[in-house]
Amino acid sequence: MFQPESIRGDFPILGLSVNSHPLIYLDNAATTQMPEPVLATYCEQHRLYEANVHRGIHRLSQLSTKRMEEARVKVQRFLNARYPEEIIFTSGTTAGINLVAESFGRAFLHPGDEIIVTNMEHHSNLVPWQETCRRHEAALKIWTMEANGSLDVNRLASMLSSKTKMVAVCGVSNVIGALNPLDDIVKLAHAAGAFVLVDAAQAIRHGRTNVQELFCDFLVFSGHKIMGPTGTGVLYGRRDILEKLPPVVFGGGMVDRVTETSASFESLPFKFEAGTPNIAGIIALGEALEYVQRLGIGACEHERNLIRYLEQEMREIPEVELVGSPRFRVGVLSFNLQGFSAFDTAALLDKLGIAVRSGHHCAQPALRHFGLEGAVRVSPAFYNTQEEMEAFLDGLRRVIPLLKGTKT
Ligand code: PLP
Repeated sequence: MFQPESIRGDFPILGLSVNSHPLIYLDNAATTQMPEPVLATYCEQHRLYEANVHRGIHRLSQLSTKRMEEARVKVQRFLNARYPEEIIFTSGTTAGINLVAESFGRAFLHPGDEIIVTNMEHHSNLVPWQETCRRHEAALKIWTMEANGSLDVNRLASMLSSKTKMVAVCGVSNVIGALNPLDDIVKLAHAAGAFVLVDAAQAIRHGRTNVQELFCDFLVFSGHKIMGPTGTGVLYGRRDILEKLPPVVFGGGMVDRVTETSASFESLPFKFEAGTPNIAGIIALGEALEYVQRLGIGACEHERNLIRYLEQEMREIPEVELVGSPRFRVGVLSFNLQGFSAFDTAALLDKLGIAVRSGHHCAQPALRHFGLEGAVRVSPAFYNTQEEMEAFLDGLRRVIPLLKGTKT
């Protein structure tokens, strides 16, 4: 069985005190912490190998290039992608989705076409599609979740038609933790002739991702949500499709031959990687994925047990109103304390050293589906312990009378 205590020492930040309490970090859906091997790899790149990639024949540039391309292969293995050139490095999920939305729109969208997204999406998987649809006079169709926050694929089936060009959906909701039926979504969308983009920003950390088995067309995630550095991300795309998409960001590194008036472009993956990449971050991301892989599926199971335990216990606290109750929940649990603002709840928890997120979680339509403008979100990771869950629940019970006191 996975023992979080055995790896907590890898995460120096978990030893911090906040407001004179030991830090209990439960905001992992926003950003996870980096373990020592990732921090060391990041620093090592700057200390010993700093040089630009794919640009120099000198030794450091060659070494940097090799290390970055090795990271690409690590990502390829992590996702079980068929080819390394199917891995495009980006600055994060948001950048990856914008890239696809922009490029896909130019290549494939015509007036009257349709794109389907759900109303549980993070704004990053909604607004780029709004913009693309507007520019190409296509229609954005919203697949609404059920009352409990689950997605019913029958609804999707009734929305798909020959006009549908793309279904863009998250693997796991960042508000309610709904684990979505991606296999069914991909099959249905493909049967209708539509492409599928999976926003795996949350899903990437909660189980094995196998893009060949899933057979999605695009999948995006951010390094900082899976123990890697901020400013790194991955866009996976099937090679045959990426080859048909035009680059949308232009500059150094992505061109082949340039004249004063025209340019031809590099092949995959470089045509989508204009400018100097986040070299140290990318190499550290490769290390982060290997770290997570070494921990194995036991770490994911541990995390699921923590969420299950929290949900059970929080249902017993009369003031707690959980947001949604999807059939399968992983990673996050959102709630409000009856009558009190999410902000005040999170601020009081912070005084106890407990870090949780409050607000609309960049998913305003998802919260409005539940009649809310905001919520508190708790999101454990594999390095969190059962004792920390108990301390959080204890903190919550202490916060309730304080909040009630401020109201009278
Ligand atoms: N999609 C989902 C489901 C997310 O949870 C997030 C971040 O919270 C994003 C997209 C955006 O990720 P980033 O800010 O790293 O680009």
